[in-house]
Amino acid sequence: MVLEKLGDALRETLRKIAGASHISPELIKELVRDIQRALLQSDVNVKLALDLSKKIESRAIDEKPPAGMTGREHVVRIVHQELVSALGKPRNFKLGPQKIMLVGLYGQGKTTTTGKLAKHLKKKGLTLGLIAADVHRPAAYDQLSQIGDQIQVPVFGDSKNTDASKVVSDGLKEYEDLDIVIVDTAGRHALDEDLINEMKSVSHIVTPDEIFLVMDATVGQQAGPQAQAFHDAVGITGVILTKLDGSAKGGGALSAVAVTKAPIIFVGTGESLDSLEKLDPDRFISRLLGMGDLQTLLERAEEVIDASTAEDTAKKMLSGKFTLIDMREQMEALTKMGPLGKVMEMVPGMSGMMKKGQAEETQKRLEKFKVLMNSMTKEELENPKLIKRSRIERIALGSGSDTQEIRELLKQYNQSRKMMSNLGGNRRMQQRMMKQFGKGDLKL
Ligand code: GDP
Repeated sequence: MVLEKLGDALRETLRKIAGASHISPELIKELVRDIQRALLQSDVNVKLALDLSKKIESRAIDEKPPAGMTGREHVVRIVHQELVSALGKPRNFKLGPQKIMLVGLYGQGKTTTTGKLAKHLKKKGLTLGLIAADVHRPAAYDQLSQIGDQIQVPVFGDSKNTDASKVVSDGLKEYEDLDIVIVDTAGRHALDEDLINEMKSVSHIVTPDEIFLVMDATVGQQAGPQAQAFHDAVGITGVILTKLDGSAKGGGALSAVAVTKAPIIFVGTGESLDSLEKLDPDRFISRLLGMGDLQTLLERAEEVIDASTAEDTAKKMLSGKFTLIDMREQMEALTKMGPLGKVMEMVPGMSGMMKKGQAEETQKRLEKFKVLMNSMTKEELENPKLIKRSRIERIALGSGSDTQEIRELLKQYNQSRKMMSNLGGNRRMQQRMMKQFGKGDLKL
């Protein structure tokens, strides 16, 4: 999975927003801090990470959600939009006859990428030939020939000739009738004078439609200056970032290249010749954020959470008018969203707080409580003080349960109520409690 850690961290952060009943400035600040941390951990440049999070914060606080959009959806959308725009505009790559030159330093994945690109274009029905122009490394021609055999694409080379320009001009003649020619040029350990001169003379002969710089994403932010230097030297038209699979620094490379405004056309995501993906910022970020899953979560939260009802209940509780009916409503809202363990993952501050098995246990208890309450009269639900011994026995009989279980429910209810009335005089605590309740963060 590409940028696994960054994706995990961002998805976790957005889940908190999607599951929240109420978007407060505090929650936005928390979200922005989490996003910042996730970006920095993926090696994204500090200034860029700060700018990005500032933009998200000010938009999330200042902008009103458009009609028909909830506050939660709006915030998630802003995060998505800002990350997409940080990646730069998508650039079209023509699927038609053209000459492509790949440049880059040693070991960046240039030869492999030549094969990947050829395979990709061949699948689109185009005819093509490859030219092995890395004349300084004899093994390079063999390597490309093997790749050519695998994908059944002809490869032109001359292991005895060290004049790259000659090899390239012969190759171009050979492949005159093909739709596409891809030239795999020589690499060097560094972008030195010799390499620049050779790239320039090859480019002069090829007159390429595209010059793609192939760069290894594991160099992180260094990818930015490298792209700039190659661009200044030979005028690249795009970048292919390789080894994005499993690179903890992928975020750094992607963002650093984006800042240079050199468009990233493809990304390499594995060693196999199929592991090349066109980089569409919108789709890339959507996948990274798990937008499909988030959408479902947003919709589910929408059905269940009603912030104003939650606040009403909180007010009632604080004034001491908290009845079993209120408690049942809260329990129903909670369980309607799905298995408690899953719900807790979505609630800010709750994910990770419940021990394994604890969620299932609580879920069972809540369901049992519901059954018990269904055997109570309206009068009992509204005034639980009435529920004395004989009534407990009747309810137990009616619900097919133990009197002990009803006592437990009443104990739970009394604890919640007492906790509320103890808070009665403390306004600051009350407000905090209400906020917690609005967020669904209160344990029954
Ligand atoms: P060149 O010297 O630039 O031509 O680099 P090569 O094409 O020989 O690639 C160097 C190494 O990187 C090889 O072992 C490739 O299999 C590996 N490689 C290339 N692209 C990717 C990629 O996207 N992901 C991974 N994991 N490995 C890659």
